Amino acid sequence: MRAAVLKEIGKPLEIEDVPAPEPGPSDLILKVKACGICGTDLHWSESHEDKGWRVLSSGTVMGHEFAGEVVEVGRDVRDKWKVGDKVTALPPIGCGRCAECQAGRPFRCADVQVRANPELTGAYAEYTRVGTHETLALPSDVGFGEGALVEPLAVGLNAANRGRIGPEDNVLIIGGGPVGLSVAVWCRFLGARNIVVSDLIGARAERAVEFGASAAIDASREDVDARFRQLTGGGPDVVFDAVGVPGSLQLAVDHAQYHSRVVVVGLCMAGDHLYPAQAIVKEIDLNFAFVYRKKHFEIVLDMLAANRVDAEGLITDRVGFDDFSTAFEALKRPTGQIKVVLEPD
Ligand SMILES: [Zn+2]
Ligand SMILES: [Zn+2]
Repeated sequence: MRAAVLKEIGKPLEIEDVPAPEPGPSDLILKVKACGICGTDLHWSESHEDKGWRVLSSGTVMGHEFAGEVVEVGRDVRDKWKVGDKVTALPPIGCGRCAECQAGRPFRCADVQVRANPELTGAYAEYTRVGTHETLALPSDVGFGEGALVEPLAVGLNAANRGRIGPEDNVLIIGGGPVGLSVAVWCRFLGARNIVVSDLIGARAERAVEFGASAAIDASREDVDARFRQLTGGGPDVVFDAVGVPGSLQLAVDHAQYHSRVVVVGLCMAGDHLYPAQAIVKEIDLNFAFVYRKKHFEIVLDMLAANRVDAEGLITDRVGFDDFSTAFEALKRPTGQIKVVLEPD
């Protein structure tokens, strides 16, 4: 099958023929219909850092935001799944039996098979293998593009939950990329009073208004604290770091007011520096949000099916294999794109 292969850290992905996956007894093989390019993969394909995050080996196929059609069903699960089912899935494959798997956290399972390694290739490919415990059927009116957005939307939902967002909250989201926009969608959904997105690229912040933000701040030319006060009448109750680069956590602490919450959802893979005393004096409730639970996938799918969340606009480009590597490289530089989706067909 065709797949986008990482040959060397820092080099463009190469489209190659690789062996197609085979299902284990309780697995499914999907024909990938849509797979979003994620900022994590962009960082990951360039990063030699190994603190808290795996370093990818040569030959890895990434891609963890996908939806597809079942083309093969493992022998033990033929009563529950059939060829032609349209599905999305959490990226890892857990045992399905342990407490973590039962709690919808297969990534904590002792027997987890993690994606983007030689044993479990990602979905920048024609086919991919998923575990049935992690797989969810797409409701009939949710398309494959939206299905591929379930994963990044689940990230935003988990982060908003970690921030305990409610109607009284004035929220500052630092970063208007896909993660920041996904957080904005759910802050709006959960009824936050004001949702302000700041970004160093004014147009990116501005676009967040389409996805639930009540206002945007161009951090390259506006004073974020002053503008936030002007917009909301005070400081933020919750600040999201949706950037994840060295310095962005300190920036979130800088903007946070006394007794506020900071949620770190942007994934910084390098060492970083923070002045703890500042966070202590403010008595900041500091949260880190890691991915999601299976229940977040279920909620996202329900809300997409009910048209209570409109996510289709997050997809700004669709590419086939021929243009995929170029599209992937282009996202490493400042860009007007939000989600670029691989459609292998
Ligand atoms: Zn992702
Ligand atoms: Zn397990």
